[in-house]
Amino acid sequence: MFNLILFGPPGSGKGTQSEKLIDKYGLMHLSTGNLLREEIVNQTKLGLEAKRFMDNGQLVPDSVVIGMIRSAIEHNPASKGFLFDGFPRTVAQAEALDELLAEKQAEINAFLALEVSREELIGRLLNRGKTSGRSDDVNEDIISARIQEYENKTAPVAGYYEQFDKGVRVKGEGDIDQIFDSLCREIDAKMLV
Ligand code: ADP
Repeated sequence: MFNLILFGPPGSGKGTQSEKLIDKYGLMHLSTGNLLREEIVNQTKLGLEAKRFMDNGQLVPDSVVIGMIRSAIEHNPASKGFLFDGFPRTVAQAEALDELLAEKQAEINAFLALEVSREELIGRLLNRGKTSGRSDDVNEDIISARIQEYENKTAPVAGYYEQFDKGVRVKGEGDIDQIFDSLCREIDAKMLV
């Protein structure tokens, strides 16, 4: 199994690059943001609980997202590997993910962090809000709250993987295909290890 985390702040391009990466490497895409939005559309109990946090730009509680990821991993036993997008977003989630993968004799093989400036992020998110239908992309206060949550709770996740020498930083500004090529170079190098 080859398991990859695509990391970065809201609006850093994780969704766009994930689509291209799963095609190229045959990985299964697990985006907690997408999974949560599906729960909301289906009006499940989990979705209703998560929505209160998401609408305010806050992280959904760890226990909720960890349970969702556990179930997704268990439902896909034949996968060649997973691309985690938007997860883990706290150090507690990262530790739980390591445990889940260890149960499958697997681990995280690469952690790629997209780096984008704060000004560029806000611009991209407001722009996405014009067409995405996502209420958390329209309001600048909610966008700022999401970036604040990222800085307080999510940015430390990079340090967690760097302590195991798994972290690589990739410039997330510029041409989409060039960013994709940079990501692929890093993944190919990790696949040889
Ligand atoms: P973005 O990264 O563009 O902000 P996502 O689609 O990844 O958007 O996530 C949208 C919202 O879903 C987040 O603001 C947060 O409330 C919630 N969410 C997604 N993934 C997680 C996670 N791993 N832990 C906690 N909350 C999450």
